[in-house]
Amino acid sequence: MSNIVEIKNLTKSYEKGNIKALNGIDLSIGEGEFVSIIGPSGSGKSTLLNMLGALDTPDSGSINVAGFDLKKNKHLNEFRADEIGFVFQLHNLIPNLSVVENVEIPMFTKDWNSKKMRERALYLLDIVGLKDKSKMLPNKLSGGERQRVAIARALANEPSIILADEPTGSLDSKTSNKILKQLDKLHNEENVTLIMVTHDMDVARLADRVIEVLDGKIVSNADDSLLDSEIKIH
Ligand code: ADP
Repeated sequence: MSNIVEIKNLTKSYEKGNIKALNGIDLSIGEGEFVSIIGPSGSGKSTLLNMLGALDTPDSGSINVAGFDLKKNKHLNEFRADEIGFVFQLHNLIPNLSVVENVEIPMFTKDWNSKKMRERALYLLDIVGLKDKSKMLPNKLSGGERQRVAIARALANEPSIILADEPTGSLDSKTSNKILKQLDKLHNEENVTLIMVTHDMDVARLADRVIEVLDGKIVSNADDSLLDSEIKIH
């Protein structure tokens, strides 16, 4: 398995260096992996996720995502449009576009005709169980349903990575479970790398690997223990 994310000694501070949001992060993520990033509020999770999506720039260190050097590359709009699907707690659906039209938005950067766009949007809505609501406006849907539309939309442009920041943060546990199952299903069916930030250990455990962040540093990472045991065996 080749790595789709390679981060070395990444740092980011705010307030003229007084707040060290990321304090030397080293992280590799394999293609197709599902990892969760867990840690208390203020530990640096969102900052790290923003770096991965090129929504913020690091102070030092290196970050390579899907073959893009995010510190040197100037084509970050293309990187985001082609490689990344974002799922945030605030799903930002466009109110005067139907559900299926909302899902189609990220496809406009592709060279696809309207038939192909509609087919893919309906396929994704089918996976999240909302094909029958495709013509409705977002305000006719529940919060959980809107979040499922946002998940379908995040997959629309066939990204190589989905970045999800507390995707179930505002939802009840039954709806959360449903959404996480659908996210996992899409990750498997589309073979996309899924990186999810959460503060909830029950949610984090659904991933193949849990990365724990504290004070801007990674304090535990399943890969490290694997490496340790390999070293011990040989
Ligand atoms: P988490 O997602 O784990 O809650 P964040 O990455 O949002 O943590 O924040 C890490 C630290 O950086 C916190 O101390 C936070 O207050 C600070 N921080 C994050 N973004 C900014 C910003 N734009 N300006 C100033 N401080 C920030």
